[in-house]
Amino acid sequence: MAASGGNTVRRDRRKVGVIGAGIIGVAVASALQRDGHEVFLVDRDAPGRGASFGNAGLFGTSSVVPMSMPGVIHQLPAWLTDPLGPLALRWTYLPWIAGWLLRYVAAGRADRVEHQARALRGMLGRAVDNLAPLVEAAEATALLHRNGSLFVYRSPKGFAKDRRAWELRARNGVAWEELDAARLRQFEPSLAADCAGGILVRANGHTSDPFQLVTHLARHLVKQGAAIHRSAATGFALDGDRLRAIRTAEGDIPADAAVVAAGAFSRPLARQLGDPLPLETERGYHVMLRDPEIALGVPTADQEGKFMATPMAGGLRLAGTVELAGLAAPPDWQRARILLRQARGLFPALLDHYPEERLSLWMGHRPALPDSLPVIDRSRRSPDVFYAFGHGHVGMASSGMTAILLADLIAGRPPTIDIAPFRANRFAW
Ligand SMILES: Cc1cc2nc3c(=O)[nH]c(=O)nc-3n(C[C@H](O)[C@H](O)[C@H](O)COP(=O)(O)OP(=O)(O)OC[C@H]3O[C@@H](n4cnc5c(N)ncnc54)[C@H](O)[C@@H]3O)c2cc1C
Repeated sequence: MAASGGNTVRRDRRKVGVIGAGIIGVAVASALQRDGHEVFLVDRDAPGRGASFGNAGLFGTSSVVPMSMPGVIHQLPAWLTDPLGPLALRWTYLPWIAGWLLRYVAAGRADRVEHQARALRGMLGRAVDNLAPLVEAAEATALLHRNGSLFVYRSPKGFAKDRRAWELRARNGVAWEELDAARLRQFEPSLAADCAGGILVRANGHTSDPFQLVTHLARHLVKQGAAIHRSAATGFALDGDRLRAIRTAEGDIPADAAVVAAGAFSRPLARQLGDPLPLETERGYHVMLRDPEIALGVPTADQEGKFMATPMAGGLRLAGTVELAGLAAPPDWQRARILLRQARGLFPALLDHYPEERLSLWMGHRPALPDSLPVIDRSRRSPDVFYAFGHGHVGMASSGMTAILLADLIAGRPPTIDIAPFRANRFAW
């Protein structure tokens, strides 16, 4: 690399196409552009219309606890049969997802959980700080907040059940303050009087509009010379193992390198490159309440109801639940309405009924590997095609580190953190 007049001119500048303009794709493209590469994005939709649109917006440094934990096999039946429960399975989809579920349960083995939590800590430890330089360059810092997040327990039993998860967080350097019932209510007066207690993680942050965050990053990319191709990527044109172009529904786009960042839809692209990956979707829902009766200070998670209430630019967002039903099934809006019912229990000032014009409902596809870790790697078939997908419940929070790692990989630098846990070939079990 050589410096010229304050600008950095790279001798190894490459033309890199990023497939997918969600938070991962735009963050990766931004980091590559900053590194001096010529970048373009390929998305069949406008930027930020996938899972990155409607999530809870948490930048959780504390989100190091994998979804599958020891004992998950005993919890699954209760969750799956509870209509208000945090996890739903469309039974017709069971034959398709059975293999993934077996791996999911296997990922909950105690030693694997320790390994996954360590890997997640590397991704998330500086969640806001890692993305901040890209957000600053895009003049979107007003969308990032660093005032912590709250985890609420309705009952002492719920707290006790989660002890193991907090011990895992402690072993991974997460710091927090425990709030008894009185201090909890002092911190967040809109909570129900009978909440047992809570935990405040001051190092967590959030965005008040995930969609706008993606949009700002995408706009800045374009301002700096990137192209956005509105088309579905269908594959890769290779000369031997070297990439020649990204294949799209509208024709080939020449590229020296490509990054697959198509979220839950990345599986067929990776399969073409010799990497059959157990990528599934954990569908999630949100309800937005316009002009809510409460004004939360920070994102507040109901640790027993398993949803998050986040103060957003457009109102109060209630987001969560996992539904295993694949990519094609239509949304089950009951899953979203359950969130509202749960939230009324936590925040009594919310109304029993809202006129439809004050509500909006949304469903999105979390891209999920069974071990709660993304795939960050080079493809098996070509040294020019890279993977950045499968960020599950923490794609917003891990976008900054993912961008740093992809920039490292494409530049041939040693990666900033160990990427062995994110290898594409790790699913031998
Ligand atoms: C209810 C809910 C709450 C969540 N809360 C949080 C949270 O609080 N914090 C957090 O960190 N994470 C959270 N997440 C997870 C987070 O939203 C995701 O991990 C993240 O958005 C994934 O980003 P992505 O860019 O990989 O995927 P996406 O945002 O889905 O983007 C993928 C893009 O690829 C495009 N695409 C797909 N296939 C093709 C193709 N063949 N060609 C071209 N384009 C293609 C799509 O159109 C899309 O724009 C939540 C998710 C849900 C559903």
